[in-house]
Amino acid sequence: GFNCGIVGLPNVGKSTLFNALTETAAAQAANYPFCTIEPNTGRVAVPDKRLDVLTQIGGSQRSIPTSLEFVDIAGLVRGASRGEGLGNQFLANIREVDAIIHVLRCFEDDDITHVEGGVDPVRDAEIIETELMLADLESLEKRQTNLQKRARGNDREAQAQLELMEPLIVALRDGRPARTAVPEGQEKEAARLQLLTTKPVLYVCNVEESAASEGNKHSESVRKRAEAEGAAMVIVSAAIEAEVSQLPHEDRGDFLEGLGLHDSGLDRVIAAGYKLLGLKTYFTVGPKEARAWTITEGTRAPQAAAVIHNDFERGFIACETVAYNDYVNFKGEAGAKENGKLRIEGKEYVVEDGDVLLFRFNV
Ligand code: GDP
Repeated sequence: GFNCGIVGLPNVGKSTLFNALTETAAAQAANYPFCTIEPNTGRVAVPDKRLDVLTQIGGSQRSIPTSLEFVDIAGLVRGASRGEGLGNQFLANIREVDAIIHVLRCFEDDDITHVEGGVDPVRDAEIIETELMLADLESLEKRQTNLQKRARGNDREAQAQLELMEPLIVALRDGRPARTAVPEGQEKEAARLQLLTTKPVLYVCNVEESAASEGNKHSESVRKRAEAEGAAMVIVSAAIEAEVSQLPHEDRGDFLEGLGLHDSGLDRVIAAGYKLLGLKTYFTVGPKEARAWTITEGTRAPQAAAVIHNDFERGFIACETVAYNDYVNFKGEAGAKENGKLRIEGKEYVVEDGDVLLFRFNV
């Protein structure tokens, strides 16, 4: 599965947000194991309105959303790359995640200590990013020395690695994250270097309750920074989300409306995390269940089938495919077929987001 690590300075609202995410998940349909896997890891449902529509059209008894894992990585502080506050442990935890959700304190509250003195989310973002950059630089420089020895002995692979690392080291020394210097077309190779600052980042601005819909001056400064970086950002009030997570599902909409909010901030965080990871969804619809499945961009049909079961990939023959809009417009598979919208696709087919699939396979 894919996961997002929640990072940020102490007291910015990480745990509040993480608990709201996992409690919401725990309160959901009992027929799916959205659970807290470890104390700091939780699997949450990815909200997708299309699944509700398909469940209804397909007359399925239940619907099973796809899920995403969140990891609460607490304890990152200034100096982490030098080992401050168990720094190395936290950096190692970040190395394991696919994307970073960076929670920034944008709420004023004199009762809650700010470790850096006052509320300034852009400064906070820079503190954390600097620690990640220092850790990356150290890790690359260590490897560089070793690779240079091998490269002198005409080791082609070492030479290629060095070449890839060169611009990243230059960027990091210059105070820019490695992601800004990855040569075009070498994203996969760069990802294998397991750096922290090549991971995609989503800024989550934790604002006070009254600013939950519009944001405030602090979230505005984060927005500017995010835009300049081409990064994503979401505004939430962790305090509101914590309250919502305690309510029965059917009461949540009204509660949010009462606050002038149209949707759940958590849903927006989950959706943004999913997008950040470049994930796509396909569906299967049957009388028992309608279900969403996660794939990455460019996944072919047999590998998409393997998400359901490994044997499906080996025995893959073909898949009956209906695009989501056709499935809805023609009210299901039969209607889509009558209108020539059901395609039989083979091994080379690249599954598209929203496809409704039925696999044919040998067992
Ligand atoms: P963490 O250290 O980043 O995990 O932060 P916590 O989630 O433990 O929050 C630290 C403190 O800030 C707790 O007392 C929270 O109740 C409080 N807090 C979190 N979010 C908000 C918020 O949106 N508004 C206010 N006023 N307090 C908050």
